[in-house]
Amino acid sequence: NDNASLESLIPMFGGLQDIASTLPNGCKIDIPQIVVLGDQSVGKSSTLEAIVGKGFLPRGGEGMVTRCPILLHLVRVPENDPRRKHLKEGSRSEDWATFKEEDGTDSEVFTDFNKVREEISNRTDKICAAGVSEKVINLKIFSSKVIELTLVDLPGLTTGAVKGQKKEIPEEIRKLVMKYVKKDKCIILYVTQATQDINTSQSLRILNEVDKDYEKTMCVLTKIDSVKDISNVKRVLTGELMKFKHGIIGVVNRSQEDIDNNKPLEECLKDEKNFLKKNFGSIASINGVNYLREKLNKLLKDHITECFPKFREELDKEILVQKELHKSYGWPITKENKYRVINDSINDFCKAYESQLSGTASQVFQR
Ligand code: GDP
Ligand code: MG
Repeated sequence: NDNASLESLIPMFGGLQDIASTLPNGCKIDIPQIVVLGDQSVGKSSTLEAIVGKGFLPRGGEGMVTRCPILLHLVRVPENDPRRKHLKEGSRSEDWATFKEEDGTDSEVFTDFNKVREEISNRTDKICAAGVSEKVINLKIFSSKVIELTLVDLPGLTTGAVKGQKKEIPEEIRKLVMKYVKKDKCIILYVTQATQDINTSQSLRILNEVDKDYEKTMCVLTKIDSVKDISNVKRVLTGELMKFKHGIIGVVNRSQEDIDNNKPLEECLKDEKNFLKKNFGSIASINGVNYLREKLNKLLKDHITECFPKFREELDKEILVQKELHKSYGWPITKENKYRVINDSINDFCKAYESQLSGTASQVFQR
């Protein structure tokens, strides 16, 4: 499905996160942050937008666009969730966004994502003036089609300061980016452009410092539509020039012209598919935004598989606590309200737990 966005991630993690969120004592599935790393103007913000399946980030134009960290929290809100009550009748399935203010409160609700982009630009100007800042813009995007996940957009690495800018800026950016990519639990989305030699990016040095075996790095090659010599791009994509453990994925993001014409993301995805088919033959299917999403899916899955045993252990503890609690209430255990919980099916647990929370049933958890 071309419009799947992060939807393919939902069945597995979404369900688990729903369960985790109903537990008062905080069994949490720890999901890593996805952090972008790349030189200026290579298409980092554009790639993030493509992954999320929404246009809402300032990008392109003149000079340095992303100048402070933008934390994008994707928040999963199922279709009938009470948190949708504030949305108008008839548009209850819509996605929306809020900013988290410095004092912890939430901003007004945005349902128009072009307005979100404007707001990010305004906040960037306020926070950074003409330079860069470590201060964070916290954006939450609420949707039924995402899993809970944080994506971090960052400024790109540069060699020299642009005329009129402070000469310290390149070093400030380096420090800022380093702070995020060196975190243990992060997936690095290393973005590099086809119009440039794959071996000579500024950010490669940082990457080699923080993840030298490219264990947690997903490499993306943008602008494969802007290169005359496609054969060279193919050599890059097949790993002839440089190897990445998880491969290099070529994508076609929205060009400046597409942005100026407000070309819908779905249409761009279609065009990307055709472009790949026409020019990349046998490797067409292992490139493109949709394939990139699949690969990220896989990286996250591996991560979840790794931390699942601990989650399960915490869940088991929680069930014991609940069982004792129910015993002390002295509620009768009957055949009807007996839930054979976790060992068989996590979903049963979820249902039992939710109805118990809403006070409609008096089950006792039995294992
Ligand atoms: P960032 O500075 O790395 O965040 O880069 P942006 O996402 O702001 O993109 C910089 C410019 O490159 C914008 O004008 C984009 O439209 C353009 N761009 C990004 N990716 C692609 C791509 O795959 N193909 C084309 N033709 N243009 C792209
Ligand atoms: Mg950017």
